[in-house]
Amino acid sequence: MVEMIKKNANDLDHQFRYEISKKVGAKSLLNCIQCGVCSSGCTVTEYVDMQPHRVVASCLLGLKEEVLSSQAIWTCSLCHRCTERCPKNVDYSFILALLRNMSVKEGRIPKEYSGTVVTIYNNGFVIPFTGGLKDNIDRRRNRMGLPEFIGPNLDEIRFIIEETGLGDLAKEKEDK
Ligand code: SF4
Ligand code: SF4
Repeated sequence: MVEMIKKNANDLDHQFRYEISKKVGAKSLLNCIQCGVCSSGCTVTEYVDMQPHRVVASCLLGLKEEVLSSQAIWTCSLCHRCTERCPKNVDYSFILALLRNMSVKEGRIPKEYSGTVVTIYNNGFVIPFTGGLKDNIDRRRNRMGLPEFIGPNLDEIRFIIEETGLGDLAKEKEDK
């Protein structure tokens, strides 16, 4: 069931739609006609707390807080189907990526994502290449006559993470 949001007009962020549109250009959400095609074809539509057309409507209405705190912006698999099917050329999948960035800037990031950033920062891999996993892979490579696996350059990986602005997040988590 769709939950009704009651909000005072003064609490709406009327600049939110322009903040997003400015970065999207011609494929802006300002073109949306609320046809719902994005939601009907969305591959994760049954798992999100706010379907794509509702996220777009909420952005247009200025419900910034609701959008940035929704799990919908993180559940999206970025398959781009909504963007391909939209009759008004709204680039919803790109808009979602922007919303994620905005959310992170405000310090909101699901722990699964921040945990992955920390693991990559510390090990260079999404899953630490150590212990039994490393032994197993080394053994198999050896059996196949492959050269020893050389891990990624951690300094370079950390540099990239720092440049994206996620370095502080990784360090913050490390300190805890
Ligand atoms: S498919 Fe496009 S026009 Fe239709 S609701 Fe979604 S974003 Fe709006
Ligand atoms: S990109 Fe995201 S929102 Fe769009 S159809 Fe795919 S899962 Fe759904």
